[in-house]
Amino acid sequence: MAEVPSSRIITIGGYDHINSVVLGGKNPVALQTMWKDSLSASDITGSSGSAALERIEGLAGLGCRLLRFAVPDLDAADVLGELAAKTAMPLVADIHFDYKIALRCLDYPIAKIRINPGNIGKKERVIMVLEKAAARRVPIRIGVNAGSLPADLRKKVEAGAITRAEALVTAAERELEIFDEMNFRDVLVSMKASSIRDTLVANRLLASRTDVPLHIGVTEAGPLIPGVVRNAVAMHTLLAEGIGATIRVSLSDTMEQEIIAGREILNAAADTEGGETVNLGVTIVSCPRCGRNSFDTHGFTEKWQNYLYSLDKNITVAIMGCVVNGPGESRHADIGITGAGNKVLIFRRGEVIRTIDASEADDAFREELQKLL
Ligand code: SF4
Repeated sequence: MAEVPSSRIITIGGYDHINSVVLGGKNPVALQTMWKDSLSASDITGSSGSAALERIEGLAGLGCRLLRFAVPDLDAADVLGELAAKTAMPLVADIHFDYKIALRCLDYPIAKIRINPGNIGKKERVIMVLEKAAARRVPIRIGVNAGSLPADLRKKVEAGAITRAEALVTAAERELEIFDEMNFRDVLVSMKASSIRDTLVANRLLASRTDVPLHIGVTEAGPLIPGVVRNAVAMHTLLAEGIGATIRVSLSDTMEQEIIAGREILNAAADTEGGETVNLGVTIVSCPRCGRNSFDTHGFTEKWQNYLYSLDKNITVAIMGCVVNGPGESRHADIGITGAGNKVLIFRRGEVIRTIDASEADDAFREELQKLL
């Protein structure tokens, strides 16, 4: 397999109040997700506005570094622009069909624009967007989707003249030519398909031909379990080959689940390579539970998961159902909790430090956790 050249480095955000995210080269792979609902003016004012900002903060706490929004019209561009003025999270405007929406977004502190070459229209329009983005130093992602290929490429795929992966790469390269002509360097590419194979072939091919950083992921990947499996297989394969500067795990589930899935994929990829796990905070180990359990590991894990993942601390937390495999199997855990008959034990590195009733489990766990933070 041809060696993948190191990708160029691109900085997103980093001006005014907006966090900076550096992508490409040897920089950490950045996690992102996409807002799942339409955004209206009422969503960013009053208590709704606070709720939206709180949710964005929660996503940042989980490890989200970029947050994308669909921008279907000019009103949505204005709403997103106002939201961008209120948060440190770099916001990405996702634009299909109408270049004027991209131009409007660039009037605001939007950190990145995503355009779809399959439907953004004529070259002159793309050039207008590039000129304004260059003036404002806003990077652009060329986001090619197998489901919305340019018409001529779609027909070639249907006729069997080229593969879907070749069509994805050709669509991206056509657009990249315009960027090169304009000497617009702050560009990323994504080529997404619901097929793992097409995703792999397309990304490998483009990565062997360009130093443009790639945003990788499998699109329309399905609900939580199939979606995580498909994305994990594709991302792990590509990341192991040095391909991928940023990832999004597309799921028919919440944004929080997408981020948690993404960080677990990154940690697993690092673990497989024999390296250090990525500095992404808490690692949760929890038992699947069986007939020996005397502690509701599922309920406890669900209740604590998002809080634990939001902690900026590299620790391992074990949540176990019984003493058979509790402190012993989780000896490496910085803190753990397990059932033990009609009691609950809290342990640290295999040593039991508290024995409590189940009704006290949350409070005692919180107290002991605080001592590690
Ligand atoms: S820790 Fe105990 S309850 Fe959990 S799976 Fe293992 S044996 Fe079963």
